[in-house]
Amino acid sequence: MSTHHPRHIDVAAFAGAGAVLERDDAQAGFERLLTETGGRNAERAVHWRAEGEREQDASGHARHWLHLRAQTVLSLTCQRCLEPVDMPLTVERSFRFVATEAQAEIEDEESEEDVLAVSREFDLLALVEDELLMELPLAPTHATCSSRPAFSVSDADFDAAEPDKPHPFAALAGLQPDKGGQGTGD
Ligand SMILES: [Zn+2]
Repeated sequence: MSTHHPRHIDVAAFAGAGAVLERDDAQAGFERLLTETGGRNAERAVHWRAEGEREQDASGHARHWLHLRAQTVLSLTCQRCLEPVDMPLTVERSFRFVATEAQAEIEDEESEEDVLAVSREFDLLALVEDELLMELPLAPTHATCSSRPAFSVSDADFDAAEPDKPHPFAALAGLQPDKGGQGTGD
């Protein structure tokens, strides 16, 4: 029924029609997401929904909007134990479209809104991917790692960190004659 292909959206027409596209696309189709997961669980879906909206501003000019929602679960690598960790990502943003790239750049800086240039061949899936990538945590970790940490603290550091713990040889040291008690003072 829909003539809107998600890789080639005519933004003005999409917004003007108040069109809605809602799909599940496998992560396998998103090259940059695959770079993050190393291709793990690539059959998992990216669920996304885009809704166009056209409104009139105060001076009667049409303003085109795209309201985007997307969610998926990426299998990332835990930075503590280096095992896979499932990371749910959610995006919910609205974009306002203006006539040219130059205008979009200016308005994007000046306003709180996300502003993009209108296009007749807008790649909606690239936008979905861009936005999901922006939600990536800097250092994904399990809440609680089930396996041993890849980088364990050495025994020496462990002892230093627990000064109250008696050294196993402390008792033996007590049995030895006191050699340091004479002639070494100030
Ligand atoms: Zn972990």
